[in-house]
Amino acid sequence: MTREERRREVKKNRLALAVIIIELIAVAILIPLAVSRLGKKNDDKTVTVNTGDAGSIVAPGSNTEINTDETHTSVSTDVQGNGTVSKEPADTNAGDKAGSTDPVPSGDKTEPVVTSEPEVTAEPTPTPEVKKDDPKPGTFEAVMQEADIEAKMYDYDAAIELVKSRPEYETSDEAKAAVARYEEEKAKCVKWPDNSKISHIFVHSLIVDTSRAFGPKSSQPLGYNKYMTTVSEFNKMIESMYEKGYVLVSIHDIAKREIDADGNEKLVAQPIMLPEGKEPFVLSQDDVNYYEYMEGDGFADRIVIGEDGLPTCQYTDTDGNVWFGEYDVLPIIDRFIKEHPDFSYRGAKGILALTGYEGALGYDTGLSMKMYDGMSEEEKMQKINAEREKAKAVADAIKADGWEFASHSYTHSNMTKATLDHMKYDSKRWHEEVEIITGPTDIYIYPYGADICDWHAYKGDKFELLKSYGFWYFCNVDATRYWIQLRNDYFRMGRINTDGERMHITLKNRSNPELTDRLGYFFKTEDVYDNTRPAWND
Ligand SMILES: [Zn+2]
Repeated sequence: MTREERRREVKKNRLALAVIIIELIAVAILIPLAVSRLGKKNDDKTVTVNTGDAGSIVAPGSNTEINTDETHTSVSTDVQGNGTVSKEPADTNAGDKAGSTDPVPSGDKTEPVVTSEPEVTAEPTPTPEVKKDDPKPGTFEAVMQEADIEAKMYDYDAAIELVKSRPEYETSDEAKAAVARYEEEKAKCVKWPDNSKISHIFVHSLIVDTSRAFGPKSSQPLGYNKYMTTVSEFNKMIESMYEKGYVLVSIHDIAKREIDADGNEKLVAQPIMLPEGKEPFVLSQDDVNYYEYMEGDGFADRIVIGEDGLPTCQYTDTDGNVWFGEYDVLPIIDRFIKEHPDFSYRGAKGILALTGYEGALGYDTGLSMKMYDGMSEEEKMQKINAEREKAKAVADAIKADGWEFASHSYTHSNMTKATLDHMKYDSKRWHEEVEIITGPTDIYIYPYGADICDWHAYKGDKFELLKSYGFWYFCNVDATRYWIQLRNDYFRMGRINTDGERMHITLKNRSNPELTDRLGYFFKTEDVYDNTRPAWND
C-alpha cells in the first residue's frame, strides 16, 4: 500500500475515541522513550570521545539491525550538547551554558495548550505561472535579463561573458552599458576576510499548521515545539537575514577540492567576493525524509516536481485537500531568491540532508520500511523501484535547481557512540539505498550533531571510513556564531539550530543577551517567534 493509500485508509477508519486512547499511550510511552534517549545524549559531554578504538561505547542502536523503536518514533533532534567539539574560549563558555539545557528530560505529561483556532499558517500558494511579459527564451532580451540576474548574484564574469557572447553586443549600447555596469560592481566587491568565520544555520521540516503540530492529535507536540521551526518563523528569519546583508553560499564556495602539483587531492579555501556589508552564510535542512510519524501533524507530505518543472512541496490539509507550494524550506527559499537574487551567491541554495530508513523526500524507497512487510520479494521490489524512480526524478530536479544533498546517515545514529561496525553497516546502506537517488555527495551531516570526535583534528578508523565513502565536508552542531576547521583532507563546520528550543532559551535569558542570544546575529527572536506555539513548562 502506498503512503497515499494508507493515508486514506487511516482517515476512513479513524474513530475519535480510538485516536485519543492511542495518543495517551503515545504520550505515556513514546515521549519518555525519546526523552531517555536524549538524556543519554547529554551524558556525552563528560565522556572523552574516542575515534573508534576497541573500547568505544556501544550505542543502543549500534547493532546491524535498525532499531525501529528509536528511529520510527522520535523527533530527530540533531541538537547535540552544543559545543562538544568547540574549544574556542571566546564564545564557548556562553554558548555551552546557554545551549546545554536542550533536550530537557521533563517527564511532563500534561497536554499542550492549543493557543489558536485550527488554521493553516501558510496560505496555499499556487504554482507560479510564466508571466505573459517574460521575453521569449533565447532572445537578446531574455539573455540580458539572465545576465542581470547573474550580476545580482555576484557572478559578474558570467554576466559579462553572457552579454558579450551575443552578436548584438557590438552594436547595442544597452549591452555595452550593462557590461560597464557589471565591471563597476565587480570592482566594488571585496574578498570575505576570513573563511573560518562563516555561519551555518539549520532547521528541520517546517511546521505548516501549528494547530495540528501542537494540537491534541499530534504525535509529538513537545518534540515539535523544541526541534522544529514554523513556516511563519522561517519566512521572518530569512527576511531578517536578508535585511542584515546575509548571502547564501554553498559549503563548496568556502573551500574546494583541488589537485595539487603532486597530483594529491586536497581542500583549498576559496575567495568569496561580495560587496562591502554583505556576509556569507550556509543553510541546511535535516531529515528531509517526511517520516511517517509526521503524517497528519501539519507538515508537507513530500517534495514533488511542479507544473513549471521546478521542485515544490505537496501538503495535505485536515480536510484531505492536496496543495502545492511553499510548505517547506525549498520552495520558500526558491521564491525568496527569485524575488531577491542578491540573497544567493552565484546561485547557491541550501543543503538537504537525508537519512534512508524511511525512504527519501517523502517516497517509500527504503528496503526495511514496515509497509513492505509480508510482501513477496518480487512485489516489494517492484513497488520500491517505482518509488525510487519518482524520488530520483525529484532529486534531479532539486539539484538542477541549485540545491545540494548531504548524507545524514542511514539509521540516524549517534556517531559519537556508534561502533565502527555499525558505521560500516550504516554507510553501506546509505550508499546503496539513498545515494542511488541523490547521486554522490561529499557532505556528511551528523545526526544529533554528534561528531565522531571532539575538536582535535580528525584521524582514525571512523574518519577513514567516511572518507572512503567520498565525504570531505562534515557538519556537527555548535551554537557558536561560527566554528570551522579546514584541513587538507577535510572541512568541518559547526551549525546553529534556529528552532523552538533555541528561541525559547534566547527569550528566557533576555536579562543577559550578550551571553545567551546565539540568534541575534541573524534575527531578533521576539520578532520571529510564532505565538501559536504552546507554552513552555519550565
Ligand atoms: Zn536528524
